Amino acid sequence: MVDLNKDVKYIKGVGPSRVLLLNKLGIFTLRDLITYYPRTYEDRSKPKYICECEDGEEVLIEAVICNAMTNVRLKGKTMQRIMVRDETGAATITWFNQSYLKNQFIVGNKYRFFGKVSKKAGKVMFTSPVFDCEEKMRNTGRIVPIYPLTYSLSQNNLRKIMEAAMGEVYGELLETLPEYLLKQYHLENINDATKQIHFPAEFKDFERARNRLVFEELLSIQLALLELKNSYIQEEKGIQFSQEAKMSDVIHRLPFQLTKAQLRVLEEIDKDMEAEHSMNRLLQGDVGSGKTVVAMCAAYKAVKSGYQAAIMAPTAILATQHLENFKNRLEELEIRCELLVSGITKKKKEEILERLKNGTIDILIGTHAVIEENVVFKNLGLVVTDEQHRFGVKQRTKIAEKGKNPDVLVMTATPIPRTLALILYGDLDISVIDELPPNRKKIDTFAVGKNMTDRVHYFIKQQIQQGRQAYIVCPLVEENEEMDLKSVEELYELYRNQIFPEYQVEYIHGKMRPKDKDTIMERFKNKQIDILISTTVIEVGVDVPNANIMVIENSERFGLAQLHQLRGRVGRGEYQSYCILKFEGKSEKIRKRMKVMCETNDGFIISEKDLELRGAGDFFGTMQHGLPEFKIANLFEDIDILKLVQSVAAKILSEDSKLEKEENKLLKNLIQDKFMKRIEI
Ligand code: ADP
Ligand code: MG
Repeated sequence: MVDLNKDVKYIKGVGPSRVLLLNKLGIFTLRDLITYYPRTYEDRSKPKYICECEDGEEVLIEAVICNAMTNVRLKGKTMQRIMVRDETGAATITWFNQSYLKNQFIVGNKYRFFGKVSKKAGKVMFTSPVFDCEEKMRNTGRIVPIYPLTYSLSQNNLRKIMEAAMGEVYGELLETLPEYLLKQYHLENINDATKQIHFPAEFKDFERARNRLVFEELLSIQLALLELKNSYIQEEKGIQFSQEAKMSDVIHRLPFQLTKAQLRVLEEIDKDMEAEHSMNRLLQGDVGSGKTVVAMCAAYKAVKSGYQAAIMAPTAILATQHLENFKNRLEELEIRCELLVSGITKKKKEEILERLKNGTIDILIGTHAVIEENVVFKNLGLVVTDEQHRFGVKQRTKIAEKGKNPDVLVMTATPIPRTLALILYGDLDISVIDELPPNRKKIDTFAVGKNMTDRVHYFIKQQIQQGRQAYIVCPLVEENEEMDLKSVEELYELYRNQIFPEYQVEYIHGKMRPKDKDTIMERFKNKQIDILISTTVIEVGVDVPNANIMVIENSERFGLAQLHQLRGRVGRGEYQSYCILKFEGKSEKIRKRMKVMCETNDGFIISEKDLELRGAGDFFGTMQHGLPEFKIANLFEDIDILKLVQSVAAKILSEDSKLEKEENKLLKNLIQDKFMKRIEI
């Protein structure tokens, strides 16, 4: 039996230097290697005649060498050239700086060349094609896998290594899916699927292989999430909050009427809280949809039932904002709220910890500080985390451990299409606020090219003269924090010294100390700053109602969901608000994306479009959600398989909730081996 955990260094063709290159790709074991899937394939299986070659297409030709290779020196480089011909015509083949090729080709012998054709005035030319001589056809003559390679390992070398690995494992792999699933859903067996995903004989074999592997990957994740959810429910009972503790006490004191959506969601939460099992609920609601009051009502119910509540926000600014909000409404109901963030003095902190322990704090609001080891509650009953996408699953679990099965409410302003929410948050029940409070003004959004710059500046000036404030968001250069910083500073210089010397301009970015960030935000809130240059740190819920303009530089570099989040920072007050999306580039895709942003303010529509226009990989990339990356599945392309798998998983668990039946043993293994160990859920 082949040992999939064995080190790749034992695979034929893998010497010490290649081991390092493989490791850089995250490949350490034989299993890692055979699950390192190709990015794409090239069909190099069917040769074309030279006379059939079209300009720009990638083709395979089979041709005889006509003359010895010439080696010409040009400025600083050398150029190698040969002529080849088949029955229908001749072609010129050129390489640069590859003098070692000189002795590769024997005049009169036949070779295969694969590459992009350039055809000018009827002359067919190839530059640096891939080639094989007739006996050894590794690079052509078949469908060739192209791997995602970034380091100095060549496609050719990885292909050789993969072939060696396949020689070892093919026929030896143990089936990972139960027989009944393979039969029922016509899935390829594991050995053929593994072989065909790397070296498909035909494209239809590849389809079958991929189909099976995607099915397996999505099924294992879905099963794991659903099993986790079941275990929440089945394990020791949660808290039953009192029916006498009425959310309406809070609702009646609000200066506004709750929307239908808010009321519906509160009802769902109320029911969950009164039930025997503990609540694990995700609350999705667009920016400004009013999630905070929902959290407040839930916290109130917990406190009135004799428990404490913890509210966790991703930044100190937000936590402070929540505290003010909670105090305003709850203090008159004699509920004691406190703030715990990392900036407070040691003495104050000790006092808070003491009061938490003896139960004289009812609601603790804070940042990550709330889940530090030394924070002990008297009887924590409810945990609310705001803007979940900033917290990992692990942190969510950690805070839940601070009480005896407390109820958990997770809030997010990133609307996710339902099917996808099921795989991202499959372990949670989902509530949605799909309605904004009435009389919200639509944020007028304009997409503008460079030629409009002066008009934009003039517009900002006018608004500031009327007493408003503006955000300018810099493009983010994701790979490189230093460059991010540079772009903020450059923009700051430009705006402060050249464009708006008469106004207060400041900047803020993610690398600043939290304290400095808070100071800047505080000054912005107090109108001491007119224009705030920022990276995406302002994305998360800061409330400055007087700021009514947001300019986003190079907005084509952001995902739509993220633009929507950013835009949500304005339109929070009584003033008409504006979002100006500066963009560069003329592609159809960019134009479509800009159009979506200008046409709608609805986060759900935007997230659907974002998925459609960018694909799931990018979409989830920007969400920082803390789930594993998919090895092969693409949630957008594979949405049909995902739907199928969701119903399959539900059915399996309804009949065998803990996967204890013999026939499901493989599934149990799959979850444990493949999933639980890799992500800390
Ligand atoms: P988010 O869902 O983005 O967290 P908030 O809870 O911060 O939104 O609410 C945004 C603003 O709307 C707050 O000022 C809040 O007081 C107000 N608000 C919430 N619900 C309603 C409502 N039903 N009617 C009017 N205003 C509301
Ligand atoms: Mg909020």
